[in-house]
Amino acid sequence: MSTPKSDRVSASKSATEGRGETFYQGPSRTQLGAYPPKERWDDWVELDSRAWPRRVERHYLLVPTTCFNCESACGLLAYVDRETLEIRKFEGNPEHPGSRGRNCAKGPATLNQVKDPDRILCPMKRAGRRGENRFERVSWDEALDDIAGRIRKAIAEKRNNEVMYHVGRPGEDGYTERVLAAWDVDGHNSHTNICSSSGRAGYQWWMGYDRPSPDHANAELILLISAHLESGHYFNPHAQRVMEGKAKGAKLVVFDVRLSNSATHADHWLAPWPGSEPAILLAIANHLIQEDFYDREFVRRFWNWQEFMEAERPKQTASFEAFEKELKKLYAEYSFGFAERESGIAAGVIQEIARLVAAAGPRLSTHNWRSAAAGNLGGWQVTRTLFLLNALMGAVGVPGGVFPNAWNKFVPKPIHTPPHPHQWNELTWPQEYPLAMNEMSFLLPHFLKDGRGRIEVYISRVYNPVWTNPDGLSWIEAITDESKVGLHVALTPTWSESAYFADYVLPVGVGSERHDLHSYETHDAQWIGFRQPVLKAARARMGREVKDTREVNPGEVWEENELWIELSWRIDPDGAMGIRKHFESKTKPGAKLSVDEYYGFIFTHSVPGLPDQAKTHGLTPLEYMRRFGAFEVTRNVGAQHTARVPKSELEDVERTPQGRVYSRAEKPVSPNIVPVPSPDPDAVGRRPVGIEVDGQVVRGFPTPSGRLEFYSATLKAWGWPEYALPSYIRSHVHPQRLEPGEVPLIPTFRLPVQIHTRSANAKWLDEIAHTNPLWIHPIHAATLDLETGDLVRVETRIGHFVVKAWVTEGIRPGVVACSHHMGRWKLEGPGQRQMMATVSLRREGTRWLLRRERGVEPFESADADTSRIWWTDAGVHQNLTFPVQPDPVSGMHCWHQAVRVTRALPEDRYGDVSVDTAKSREAYAEWLKLARPAAQSSPDGTRRPYWLLRPLKPGREAYKLSGSTPPRA
Ligand code: SF4
Repeated sequence: MSTPKSDRVSASKSATEGRGETFYQGPSRTQLGAYPPKERWDDWVELDSRAWPRRVERHYLLVPTTCFNCESACGLLAYVDRETLEIRKFEGNPEHPGSRGRNCAKGPATLNQVKDPDRILCPMKRAGRRGENRFERVSWDEALDDIAGRIRKAIAEKRNNEVMYHVGRPGEDGYTERVLAAWDVDGHNSHTNICSSSGRAGYQWWMGYDRPSPDHANAELILLISAHLESGHYFNPHAQRVMEGKAKGAKLVVFDVRLSNSATHADHWLAPWPGSEPAILLAIANHLIQEDFYDREFVRRFWNWQEFMEAERPKQTASFEAFEKELKKLYAEYSFGFAERESGIAAGVIQEIARLVAAAGPRLSTHNWRSAAAGNLGGWQVTRTLFLLNALMGAVGVPGGVFPNAWNKFVPKPIHTPPHPHQWNELTWPQEYPLAMNEMSFLLPHFLKDGRGRIEVYISRVYNPVWTNPDGLSWIEAITDESKVGLHVALTPTWSESAYFADYVLPVGVGSERHDLHSYETHDAQWIGFRQPVLKAARARMGREVKDTREVNPGEVWEENELWIELSWRIDPDGAMGIRKHFESKTKPGAKLSVDEYYGFIFTHSVPGLPDQAKTHGLTPLEYMRRFGAFEVTRNVGAQHTARVPKSELEDVERTPQGRVYSRAEKPVSPNIVPVPSPDPDAVGRRPVGIEVDGQVVRGFPTPSGRLEFYSATLKAWGWPEYALPSYIRSHVHPQRLEPGEVPLIPTFRLPVQIHTRSANAKWLDEIAHTNPLWIHPIHAATLDLETGDLVRVETRIGHFVVKAWVTEGIRPGVVACSHHMGRWKLEGPGQRQMMATVSLRREGTRWLLRRERGVEPFESADADTSRIWWTDAGVHQNLTFPVQPDPVSGMHCWHQAVRVTRALPEDRYGDVSVDTAKSREAYAEWLKLARPAAQSSPDGTRRPYWLLRPLKPGREAYKLSGSTPPRA
C-alpha cells in the first residue's frame, strides 16, 4: 500500500533522527518512522491497492485495540474506512510500549476472524441431544434468563460451588474474577495447569512471584528453555527484545529437543534428553559455586541461607561462610559428567555454556515457558534450577537480568471490589494438591466421575477443553452426562469441539469487538493496554453514541463486559442477594454500570499520570485510551527488593531473628503471612513490610522469609522435604522409566502462526500452517523403514493416533515430536470449515474411535477465498490419546508421553484416534497416588499455604480443612 507524499512528509516530521535511524515519537521509541503520525489518525489517507492503476484515495480512522490471539496483547491499529465504517486491515500500534508497533502474523489476521464466514453470529440453543450438534437460534434474553435463573437458584440454595467458569487465556486482568467474587462463588477454573503452572511454580518457590520479566535487550547472555522467538511467553514483545539483545552482541543459548525457529537463531543449540534440563542447569550452577564465580554479596544479602542453616544444619554456626561451605557440598554431585550422562549433551559443551554464564555476570537473562517445565514430572524444577543461575549471579532486578513479573506489570484498582468468596471448591482445588499453582482443571471429568460433586452451570469461556486438554474423550463423557453437568454454556467467538457439547453457544467478540484491560511483563516498565470495540470507538470519534456493542459488532456478537453486567443483574434483579450493587453505577445510583463508566473510573482514578497525559491532549483519560490504546505508567522500574522501607512504616515494628520485619508490634500468627493482595482482615495489622539487610530495612520479596528462597520451608513443611532445595527430579520419560520400545513424544510446541482454537478461523494462518506431522530423526526412521509422508501409528497408554511422518534432522534421535495446535475436527453440521476435518465419533462402552470422514474442502461463501482453499489437511488431534498426568507438587499436567511408534497397520487411516477411557481412569488413579494430600501433609490444618498465589483467593476461613477426605477413584 503506497503512502501519499504529503503523509510521508508528515511522518518524517513527527519522527526524530538519530544515529542514521528514524524513531517514532512515542512510547515505542524505536525505528518506526514510517508509521502514521498520531496527529493524523482521524483522517489517514492511503491509495486503494485494488483500484490500481487508478489512484483512488481511501480515508481511514485509525483506531487502536489489542490483539486477542495470545497472551501478549500486542497493540493493533484498525484501519476503519471513514466512508463505509468497515475495518479494512489491522497493523501494529506504535503507541503500545510492549509491542512497539510490531505484531506476529496472528495480529493482522484478526481481520480474518472478524470476517470469518463460519463465525457464530447469534446465540444458539441445543435442539437435539447434548453433543448431537443440532442447534437453533435463540434470543440473548431467553438464554440469559435461563442461565441467570439457574445460577440464582444454585446460590440461593447454597450450592455456590456448582457454578463454574472455565477460561482459556483470559486476555484481561481480573474483570471476570471480580464477577465471580461478586456472586460469591469459588468458581474460577483456568487452563493454566495444562499450560504454564510448572514453569510458574519454580519461580514462585524462589521469589513469591510466578513469572520472570527478563531484560533480554540489555543482556550479555540470553538463555532460553523455550521456543521463545516464535511461541514463547510474550512472544512478539520478547522476541523483538531478544533480537535487540543479539544485535547488541548478546549470545543466545537455546535448550530445545527440536530445532525450533529460536534454536536456528542460537549461538548454541542444545537438544537434551527431555526432562534432563535441570541436570544441565545444576551442573552449570555447580561450576559457578565450586569456582567461586557467583555474586557472594547478592547471595549473602538476599538468599534465605540463614533459615537453611538453622533448620538443616542446626549443629553448625549459621554464618554465611559456613553456608558457602555447605553450598559447595550440596551441589558437588552435579558434575558436567553427571549432566552428560543424564542429558546426552557432551560435558565439554555444557562446560562452554557454564563459562558463558560466568562471563555474563548479572547480565544474564533467562526464561522458560511451557516447554520442558510443562512436559515433565517435576518440570517445576526446570525453572527452579534456571532461576538458581540468576540468583547465583545476582542477575535479579538489574539491567540485562531478570525482574519479577509484578514489578513490570500494572493492575489498576477497579470501580468495585467485591469481597473474596467464602467457599472453597474442591472440584478445582482438591485436597490432594495443596501446592498446585492453579486449578486442577484437567482432572475435572475424573472428579465428576468419582462423585466428588456436580456442576449446575458450567461456562466455558473462549476455551475448548475437549480439544485442548488431555483425555478429551473423558471430557465428552462427563459433559454429556446431564446428571454431572446441568447446563453447559460456551462463550466463544468461533465453533469449537467443546461447543458441540454445549446447551448454549453464545457468540462473544474477537480482538476488535470487546473491552479488556491488561498489562504484561514485557520489559522493565509498566504499561496498560486497552482492548476496545473499534467500531464503537470510531463512531464515538465521529460524535455518535453506541450504548451496546451489539449495535456495531457483526450479527448479535456481544462483548463480555456488558454481558457479565447484564447477567449479574438478572441473577439479582432487585439487589436482595448483594450481587447487583457491584454492577451499579456510582454516578447514577440504582442504574446499571456502563462499560464507559467502568473504564472511565479506572483511567481517571487508578492510573497515575494518565489524567495529566490526557489533559495535554485536551482529552479525558477514557478518550485518551480510546484514541491511543495504551499508556506507559512508568519505565525503568529497576530493583524493588532493595527499596528502603519508609520510616512511616517502621514504627513499632517486630523483627524475627532471621530479619523479617513486620509492621506492627503484634506477633505474626504465622511466619507464612506475606503481603498478598487480599482484604483478609486477619492479615491486616501483621503485614510484613520488608527485611533487614546490613542494618537497613528494604522491601525484599513476598516469600515467607522475605528473601529469595533457595531453601523452601514451605515445601518441607507441606510434605516435600526432599525438594526443599533446587534439585533434579527424573522425568516420567527418563530412560530408566521407559519400557523397552518406548520413546518420548514431545507434544508441547506449536508453530508461530497458530494458537489453539483462537486462530483456526483465520484463513491466512490456515493457508500457512495446517498440519502437524510427527518429527522423527533419520536414524530413528531408518529402524522403522519410514520416509516422510508415511503413515505411522503412535500408541500411548490409553490409545493411539495415526499421523504422517516427517523425517528430519531437526530432532534429537530417539525422541519424536508433534505440534499441539492442529487436529481440529467437527461433526456433521455447523462448524468452522477452513481448518476442521469432518469426523465421525463412535463409541462402544469405554472405547472410542474418531475417524476423519472428509478433509478440509473449498466452499462458496461471501468470501471468494473460501472457494480457493487448496489444502485438505487439518492435522491430527493427538491430545485425545493422552492420559492425565498431574505433577504431585505443581499440579501441572505433564504433557510428554511415553509412546510406541510403528508403521501404520492396514486398517489405520490418517487422522484416526482410538481411546479406551477405562484406561484413562487407571492412569488417573495411578498418578493420583503420587499426591500428598493436605489432610496428611498440612502443618497447620489448612488446605494450602496462605501465602501462595491463587486466582480468586477465598477468605481465610475457607482455607481451613473440613476434615473430610475426598473420595478416592
Ligand atoms: S498473537 Fe501475535 S500479535 Fe497477537 S498478541 Fe500474540 S504475539 Fe502479539
